[in-house]
Amino acid sequence: MSDPNTFTGAVLDRAGEHRTDDAWLAAQLEHPHARAVLVGTGGVGVAGGRLRLAPLRDVATEEPLLLGLDEEGPIFAADAGAAADLLGLRDAAATLPQSDSGLAAYAVALVSWHRRHRFCANCGNPTEVREAGHLRHCPVCGADHHPRTDPVVIMLVTRGDDVLLGRQAAWPPGRYSALAGFVEPGESLEEAVAREVQEESGVVVGPPRYISSQPWPFPAQLMLGFIAPWASGEPEVNDHELEDTRWFTRAEVRAAAESDDGELKLPPRLAIARRLIEHWLAGSD
Ligand SMILES: [Zn+2]
Repeated sequence: MSDPNTFTGAVLDRAGEHRTDDAWLAAQLEHPHARAVLVGTGGVGVAGGRLRLAPLRDVATEEPLLLGLDEEGPIFAADAGAAADLLGLRDAAATLPQSDSGLAAYAVALVSWHRRHRFCANCGNPTEVREAGHLRHCPVCGADHHPRTDPVVIMLVTRGDDVLLGRQAAWPPGRYSALAGFVEPGESLEEAVAREVQEESGVVVGPPRYISSQPWPFPAQLMLGFIAPWASGEPEVNDHELEDTRWFTRAEVRAAAESDDGELKLPPRLAIARRLIEHWLAGSD
């Protein structure tokens, strides 16, 4: 892959080895250059084309969550609630530098998890923040809850010069993209690729090849990108997720990649689906 995927590339030391050291964490909170990424329901704080890093002392938050350290000092994420001066993460990513988009995605993923996990999944009592924001602990039953990342496989199925794409009814007219689905419990990534393709299109694939991954914090997915060779079967819609699934030729897909005016519309450039398609167009897969 030539370019890194959007929402990757945060340049900071996550300092995982210090998170359980309360004295160290207290020093980070008092650090003169402690800053915070503001994350609200409307997105992230942006200023001057960069992710806004507000001085932590100016941020009203009860639970600063440590993202890590850069050369100036610690960077936290702070829940800004329903603050109005925020930009949606997708819109922000379209303009921010790569490293800022990665840091923004990290902050959004962590804050979103805390918002949704205030109560113990085991006993229902309120939980407490631990490990600088990378754990919630239940003081009643003792359970520890770690931030979630939910794996999703996303794959291009290829047959010679053709590629299998599908569309959901809710998408803009003409949009087709890679097939995708959540990995289920007790399933390998390879098994998830084969099952999802079979469920969504009826097509049987051979062993998939891993290409790259992308955090997708809407709210907690990790997209795992594959290319899988066709083995048998012709595409037909056989579940309720897709409205259509069909083969496209390399020429059709190349034309769509070069111009947004054609009948076929590809997914937006920030999505790993688009990167997989461009990888296939550029290479020998
Ligand atoms: Zn509990």
